[in-house]
Order: sequence, then structure tokens, then C-alpha cells
Amino acid sequence: MFENLQERLGAILNGLTGRGALSEADVSAALREVRRALIEADVALDVVRSFTDRVREKAVGAEVLKSVKPGQMVVKIVHDELVEMLGAEGETIDLNAPAPVVVMMVGLQGSGKTTTTGKVAKRLSERQGKKVLMASLDTRRPAAQEQLRQIGEQVSVATLPIVANQGPVDIAKRAVQAAKLGGHDLVILDTAGRTHIDEPLMAEMADIKRTSNPHEILLVADSLTGQDAVNLAKSFDERVGITGLVLTRMDGDGRGGAALSMRAVTGKPIKLIGVGEKMDALEEFHPKRIADRILG
Ligand code: GDP
Repeated sequence: MFENLQERLGAILNGLTGRGALSEADVSAALREVRRALIEADVALDVVRSFTDRVREKAVGAEVLKSVKPGQMVVKIVHDELVEMLGAEGETIDLNAPAPVVVMMVGLQGSGKTTTTGKVAKRLSERQGKKVLMASLDTRRPAAQEQLRQIGEQVSVATLPIVANQGPVDIAKRAVQAAKLGGHDLVILDTAGRTHIDEPLMAEMADIKRTSNPHEILLVADSLTGQDAVNLAKSFDERVGITGLVLTRMDGDGRGGAALSMRAVTGKPIKLIGVGEKMDALEEFHPKRIADRILG
């Protein structure tokens, strides 16, 4: 794991002999390589900067133990700091509220919201025996509600019957009502996305939130999102208020820098990751694994 960075730092630092502590100059040289690794992993520039500042603080003056090489030591400091910034292991969707618990999925179009809604519903019904209802609030894309209905059939989870010409807020109200009447433990609201963040989208999300009182608002985001990750997470968090993140397409070639970017700007936990198109392709978030991947 991250031999690449280790090697690069080794070339810079391992020539140090006869000195007990890392100097400012040593650390600055090493951090240039760290910075490059993070940018290659698609971590947003603002986050790269605050991250390297934190590492600099820890590394300058640190005693180099005889048993490790300075390069290895800096890599360890970087790795530990990444894990800490990425957050705790074993986060889960919080269902600790009176039934029906409302879970709202938000995000841009194509980020994987509908797929993730199906995956989460399947997981909670199969693993925790929850009675789940799913509802698509996407009235903009004609096929969206039908797409969720088909996913529901596939994973054996109920979906709210489709009623023509209803707006998203009314569908949300109807879904919560139906979940109450039907004795469902939770209802997952799959909201509409847009190709980019705009005010009508945020206003719609805020309206849905106000009327359906969700216990969890999960931002579903494509892990291949590069420099836009910060903007995306910030906008949704400031305008709607999210409780957690789900990162999709972690099965792709990307190094997952968006995980660090989004976590860093919102402080909200990464609860799950999507690792494929199939309905079982959903995993818990392991900060160490993502840190390894970001370091390449
Ligand atoms: P939405 O517009 O946000 O609802 O996005 P969809 O759920 O319709 O997903 C868009 C596309 O991404 C679909 O083809 C999904 O199969 C695919 N997708 C979603 N999550 C993942 C994932 O974790 N990995 C991969 N490889 N594809 C995914």
C-alpha cells in the first residue's frame, strides 16, 4: 500500500542521518509530495491545504525513531491524520426515532440516489427485518417513479403507488401517511436531482424537509466528483442540512479523494459506500481503507 508515496518520501528524507528530529525544510519537501498525491487522488485544493497544514504541525520537530526511516515516519503521520479526518469506523443509518422513521436521499442527478435507495431498503429489510416503504419524489424525470417501482419489485420492498400529477411535497406527505397506516418502520424518500446545484433544487429539498421531518438526510454523491465535491457538500449541508454522506462508484478507478473533501467541509459522517450497480453492492465505510486508497 502507498509504496509510491513511501518511495517518493524516502528519496527526499531518508538521506537524513545524524539528526534526531524532522526540520521545517525536511517536512516542507515531504509535504510537496504529499500534496501531489492528494491532488492526484482528487482531493479538493482547499482541503489539501488544510490537511498539509495539520500534518506540518505534527511532523516538524518530531523525533525520528531509530527503528524507522524518516520517510516511513512521515507517511505514518500522513496516514494517521487522514484516518482521523475521514472519521469514525462503523457509522450506520440512525433509525432511533418513532416509526415511521423518515430517511431522505438528496443529491445531483445521476449520483446514484435511486440505486442507493433500493440498496439501503434491501439491506435494512433483509438484515434488520425492517418494514420499509420507498417513494420517488422525482416528478421531473418521467421514468423516475417507475424506475423505483421496478427496483422495489426486484428487492421485495414496497413502493408508494404512483399517482399522476402530484408534486414532490404532496408525494412526501402521502408517503409518510401511507407508512403510518401500513405500519412501516421507515420510509425512504428518493428526491429529484439536477445536473448541477441550483436554487430551485435547494428550495424543493427544504420544502420536503419541512413537511416530512426526516430523521436522516443522506447526501448521495459520486466518489469520482473531483474539485466540485466541496461545493456540492457545502451547498447541500448549508441549505438543507445533511446528517450523513453516501459515496457511490467506489468500485471505479477513482482514488476517492472526494470522501476526504466532503467529510472535511461538512464534518458529517460517511455512512455507506456504493461499490457497484447491483443491489447488494453497498458496504460500510472503513476510513483506513479509504486512507490507503487516497495515498495510492
Ligand atoms: P440518480 O439519478 O441519482 O437516482 O442515479 P441512479 O440511481 O439512477 O444511478 C445512475 C447510474 O449509476 C445507474 O446506472 C446506476 O446503476 C449507477 N450506479 C449507482 N451507484 C453505483 C455504484 O456504486 N457503482 C457503480 N459502478 N454504478 C453505480
